Amino acid sequence: MSPTSSATAPLRIALLAGGVGGARFTRGLRDLLARRDVPAELTVVVNTGDDMWLDGLRVCPDLDTVMYTLAGVVHEGQGWGRDSETARVSAELHAYGLGWPWFTLGDLDIATHVARTELLRRGLPLSEVTARLSERWEFGARLLPMSDQSVETHVELDGGSGASDGRRTVHFEEWWVRLRAATPARRFVQVGVEDARPAPGVLEAIAGADVVLLPPSNPVVSIGTVLGVPGIREALRATSAPVVGVAPIVGGAPVRGMADACLTTIGVETTALAVGEHYGARSRGGLLDGWLVDTADADSVPALAVAGIEARALPLLMGDGVGPDGLTATDAIVLAALDLAGVGSRVAPTAA
Ligand code: GDP
Ligand code: CA
Repeated sequence: MSPTSSATAPLRIALLAGGVGGARFTRGLRDLLARRDVPAELTVVVNTGDDMWLDGLRVCPDLDTVMYTLAGVVHEGQGWGRDSETARVSAELHAYGLGWPWFTLGDLDIATHVARTELLRRGLPLSEVTARLSERWEFGARLLPMSDQSVETHVELDGGSGASDGRRTVHFEEWWVRLRAATPARRFVQVGVEDARPAPGVLEAIAGADVVLLPPSNPVVSIGTVLGVPGIREALRATSAPVVGVAPIVGGAPVRGMADACLTTIGVETTALAVGEHYGARSRGGLLDGWLVDTADADSVPALAVAGIEARALPLLMGDGVGPDGLTATDAIVLAALDLAGVGSRVAPTAA
């Protein structure tokens, strides 16, 4: 499946990512390629549907999670936000009755939002702002917002309860963080998506890639949102690169977060098989050539083959503990994805 031109040309990998799942997978990929001296160009197309204005600042949760993770400054326990963080500014803002009391922005994090907001105010598009913010960290990957236009995921609440003040529609972050996705969502609305265009470089990265990877990000409100930007789904279908994904669902449950609530809303079962089928086989108008499932879901491999998707089963919990083979769990997932994409030989360990 590999369309590579020469062994020394950089391996061009495009990824579509949400926050924590996308960030950790991308970090694992970048680190493995570096350890094996594989020249590579990584482009991460990040969901911006969770973005919002808060306390006068433009906050881009998934872009920041990916940036902080790749930069090595993320709060590892949380998976998002800065390490060694304080919240004095947020406390002051809350004392003025501003912000969301259930949503704390850390002080170091606020500096990112101030910088972003200032650059946006100067008229730079989000893609350029993102490049400017990333420059400082030199983390060896290019981050692109899915779009320079604002596309915000809103959640139409189902049932009687709604938000406490009677609102029927809330921003995705309010549903996720304050309501913990416990109030059922009738539907997700991508506000602004009709007028959105892929950010400069997004379509080119997908079309020019040797491999396209879908990390284990939320299939509905992360990857699904990116795919909603007109042109991105079509680019994935059209690229000559193989497209390989990693299931975010293990043994019928999300590894972290409430992706099950999102899947229920769009009528997809919370299984690795159903998510694979939801993306569909590229040979049949869908998106995937290959799909990694956890060993707990190994029995779905034949059904995925019937659906036209080549699947492999291996442990899919990302982790940093080094096994007897010298690989972390994340390394093994990355290698399996690259192998399924037909470029495994390019990342084989070099003979000593
Ligand atoms: P968010 O924007 O921070 O919610 O992050 P993403 O959308 O990128 O990732 C969330 C998804 O990643 C959830 O559905 C999790 O189940 C999945 N996830 C997180 N950690 C792991 C892991 O170690 N392995 C797998 N297979 N999935 C994971
Ligand atoms: Ca997110």
